[in-house]
Amino acid sequence: MSYLRKIEYEIVLKDSFWVIRSCPKCGRKTHYRNTNKFRINANGNKLDVWLIYHCTECKHTLNIAIYERKKVSSIPKEEYQCFLENDETLAEMYGKRMQLFRTNKVDIDPDKLHYEFVKQHETMENCEFGEQVVITINNPCQLKIHPEKQIAMVLGLSRSQVKSLLEKGDIGPKAEMPQTITFSVNACRI
Ligand SMILES: [Zn+2]
Repeated sequence: MSYLRKIEYEIVLKDSFWVIRSCPKCGRKTHYRNTNKFRINANGNKLDVWLIYHCTECKHTLNIAIYERKKVSSIPKEEYQCFLENDETLAEMYGKRMQLFRTNKVDIDPDKLHYEFVKQHETMENCEFGEQVVITINNPCQLKIHPEKQIAMVLGLSRSQVKSLLEKGDIGPKAEMPQTITFSVNACRI
Protein backbone atom coordinates (compact mmCIF):
# COMPACT_ATOMS: atom_id res chain seq x y z
CA MET A 1 0.00 0.00 0.00
CA SER A 2 1.28 3.46 -0.88
CA TYR A 3 0.81 6.61 1.12
CA LEU A 4 -0.09 10.19 0.46
CA ARG A 5 1.75 12.43 2.91
CA LYS A 6 0.34 15.90 3.37
CA ILE A 7 2.56 18.40 5.14
CA GLU A 8 1.55 21.93 6.01
CA TYR A 9 3.89 24.78 6.90
CA GLU A 10 3.31 28.34 7.93
CA ILE A 11 5.68 31.23 7.35
CA VAL A 12 5.95 32.96 10.72
CA LEU A 13 7.36 36.44 11.03
CA LYS A 14 9.84 36.65 13.89
CA ASP A 15 10.15 40.41 13.97
CA SER A 16 8.04 43.49 13.15
CA PHE A 17 8.41 44.88 9.64
CA TRP A 18 11.25 47.31 9.08
CA VAL A 19 10.18 50.47 7.28
CA ILE A 20 12.33 52.17 4.68
CA ARG A 21 11.67 55.84 3.91
CA SER A 22 13.43 59.15 3.65
CA CYS A 23 14.09 60.68 7.04
CA PRO A 24 13.71 64.49 7.06
CA LYS A 25 16.32 64.79 9.81
CA CYS A 26 18.94 62.49 8.25
CA GLY A 27 18.18 63.86 4.75
CA ARG A 28 18.27 60.39 3.14
CA LYS A 29 16.52 57.04 3.13
CA THR A 30 16.88 55.21 6.42
CA HIS A 31 15.31 52.34 8.28
CA TYR A 32 12.60 52.82 10.85
CA ARG A 33 11.92 50.20 13.50
CA ASN A 34 9.03 49.43 15.79
CA THR A 35 9.49 50.97 19.25
CA ASN A 36 6.70 48.72 20.58
CA LYS A 37 5.01 51.82 21.92
CA PHE A 38 1.71 53.48 21.13
CA ARG A 39 0.59 57.07 21.03
CA ILE A 40 -2.99 57.87 21.90
CA ASN A 41 -4.83 61.09 21.29
CA ALA A 42 -8.30 61.56 22.70
CA ASN A 43 -10.63 64.19 21.32
CA GLY A 44 -14.07 64.13 22.89
CA ASN A 45 -15.29 60.59 22.43
CA LYS A 46 -13.07 60.05 19.39
CA LEU A 47 -9.69 58.41 19.58
CA ASP A 48 -6.54 58.25 17.47
CA VAL A 49 -4.05 55.48 18.12
CA TRP A 50 -0.66 55.20 16.45
CA LEU A 51 2.13 52.67 16.53
CA ILE A 52 5.42 54.53 16.95
CA TYR A 53 8.35 53.77 14.67
CA HIS A 54 11.78 55.40 15.05
CA CYS A 55 14.51 56.20 12.52
CA THR A 56 17.36 53.85 13.49
CA GLU A 57 19.89 56.67 12.89
CA CYS A 58 18.38 59.69 14.64
CA LYS A 59 15.23 58.43 16.40
CA HIS A 60 12.99 60.66 14.26
CA THR A 61 9.43 59.51 14.88
CA LEU A 62 7.05 57.97 12.37
CA ASN A 63 3.49 57.48 13.57
CA ILE A 64 1.61 54.64 11.92
CA ALA A 65 -2.13 55.06 12.32
CA ILE A 66 -3.98 52.10 13.82
CA TYR A 67 -7.23 53.94 14.57
CA GLU A 68 -8.22 57.39 13.37
CA ARG A 69 -11.22 59.30 14.73
CA LYS A 70 -12.54 56.10 16.18
CA LYS A 71 -15.34 56.07 18.76
CA VAL A 72 -13.89 55.06 22.12
CA SER A 73 -16.82 52.71 22.69
CA SER A 74 -15.99 50.77 19.50
CA ILE A 75 -12.51 49.82 20.70
CA PRO A 76 -12.45 46.64 22.82
CA LYS A 77 -11.67 47.52 26.45
CA GLU A 78 -8.86 44.95 26.74
CA GLU A 79 -7.19 46.34 23.64
CA TYR A 80 -7.49 49.92 24.86
CA GLN A 81 -5.83 48.90 28.13
CA CYS A 82 -2.99 47.30 26.15
CA PHE A 83 -2.52 50.57 24.21
CA LEU A 84 -2.25 52.47 27.51
CA GLU A 85 0.29 49.99 28.87
CA ASN A 86 2.33 49.82 25.67
CA ASP A 87 1.74 46.10 25.57
CA GLU A 88 4.64 44.59 23.61
CA THR A 89 2.70 41.62 22.26
CA LEU A 90 0.03 43.89 20.79
CA ALA A 91 2.66 46.30 19.41
CA GLU A 92 4.44 43.40 17.69
CA MET A 93 1.17 42.07 16.33
CA TYR A 94 0.46 45.43 14.68
CA GLY A 95 4.10 45.67 13.55
CA LYS A 96 3.56 42.44 11.57
CA ARG A 97 0.27 43.46 9.98
CA MET A 98 0.96 44.15 6.32
CA GLN A 99 -2.40 45.84 5.80
CA LEU A 100 -1.52 48.54 8.34
CA PHE A 101 1.56 49.57 6.36
CA ARG A 102 -0.41 49.51 3.12
CA THR A 103 -3.14 51.81 4.40
CA ASN A 104 -0.51 54.14 5.87
CA LYS A 105 1.33 54.08 2.51
CA VAL A 106 4.56 53.17 4.26
CA ASP A 107 7.19 51.02 2.51
CA ILE A 108 8.42 47.83 4.15
CA ASP A 109 12.02 46.79 3.44
CA PRO A 110 11.75 43.30 1.88
CA ASP A 111 15.44 42.65 2.64
CA LYS A 112 14.83 42.98 6.37
CA LEU A 113 12.29 40.23 6.82
CA HIS A 114 12.99 37.79 9.62
CA TYR A 115 10.86 34.70 9.29
CA GLU A 116 10.87 30.95 9.69
CA PHE A 117 8.94 27.99 8.32
CA VAL A 118 6.99 26.25 11.08
CA LYS A 119 5.54 22.81 10.41
CA GLN A 120 1.91 22.87 11.45
CA HIS A 121 0.78 19.33 10.79
CA GLU A 122 1.40 16.25 8.80
CA THR A 123 -1.08 13.56 7.79
CA MET A 124 -0.75 10.18 6.11
CA GLU A 125 -3.46 8.67 3.95
CA ASN A 126 -3.60 5.47 2.00
CA CYS A 127 -3.20 6.11 -1.68
CA GLU A 128 -3.58 3.86 -4.67
CA PHE A 129 -1.46 5.89 -7.03
CA GLY A 130 2.02 5.43 -5.61
CA GLU A 131 3.89 7.39 -2.94
CA GLN A 132 2.97 11.03 -3.00
CA VAL A 133 3.92 14.03 -0.92
CA VAL A 134 1.90 17.22 -1.07
CA ILE A 135 3.25 20.27 0.70
CA THR A 136 1.31 23.42 1.46
CA ILE A 137 2.96 26.60 2.64
CA ASN A 138 0.70 29.20 4.24
CA ASN A 139 1.86 32.77 4.12
CA PRO A 140 -0.67 34.70 6.25
CA CYS A 141 1.44 37.89 6.29
CA GLN A 142 1.70 37.77 2.48
CA LEU A 143 5.47 38.14 2.55
CA LYS A 144 6.97 38.62 -0.88
CA ILE A 145 9.10 35.49 -1.09
CA HIS A 146 9.50 33.83 -4.49
CA PRO A 147 7.68 30.45 -4.56
CA GLU A 148 10.89 28.69 -5.69
CA LYS A 149 12.67 30.10 -2.65
CA GLN A 150 9.88 28.97 -0.34
CA ILE A 151 10.05 25.42 -1.74
CA ALA A 152 13.85 25.43 -1.48
CA MET A 153 13.76 26.53 2.16
CA VAL A 154 11.16 23.94 3.17
CA LEU A 155 12.96 21.08 1.41
CA GLY A 156 16.43 22.24 2.45
CA LEU A 157 17.57 22.54 -1.16
CA SER A 158 19.14 25.31 -3.20
CA ARG A 159 17.05 27.33 -5.63
CA SER A 160 18.87 25.85 -8.60
CA GLN A 161 18.14 22.32 -7.34
CA VAL A 162 14.45 23.24 -7.03
CA LYS A 163 14.52 24.70 -10.53
CA SER A 164 15.87 21.50 -12.05
CA LEU A 165 13.38 19.34 -10.06
CA LEU A 166 10.57 21.55 -11.36
CA GLU A 167 11.86 21.13 -14.91
CA LYS A 168 12.05 17.34 -14.51
CA GLY A 169 8.55 17.25 -13.05
CA ASP A 170 9.74 15.85 -9.70
CA ILE A 171 8.18 18.90 -8.11
CA GLY A 172 4.79 19.86 -9.48
CA PRO A 173 3.15 23.17 -8.57
CA LYS A 174 -0.51 22.65 -7.77
CA ALA A 175 -1.73 26.05 -6.66
CA GLU A 176 -0.23 29.44 -6.11
CA MET A 177 -2.06 32.24 -4.33
CA PRO A 178 -0.78 35.27 -2.44
CA GLN A 179 -1.32 33.52 0.87
CA THR A 180 -0.68 29.87 -0.01
CA ILE A 181 1.32 27.68 -2.34
CA THR A 182 0.80 23.96 -2.75
CA PHE A 183 3.07 21.58 -4.60
CA SER A 184 3.68 17.86 -4.87
CA VAL A 185 7.07 16.22 -4.58
CA ASN A 186 8.20 12.90 -5.95
CA ALA A 187 8.49 10.94 -2.69
CA CYS A 188 11.93 9.53 -3.46
CA ARG A 189 13.30 13.10 -3.72
CA ILE A 190 12.83 13.91 -0.05
ZN1 LIG B 1 16.83 59.87 10.78
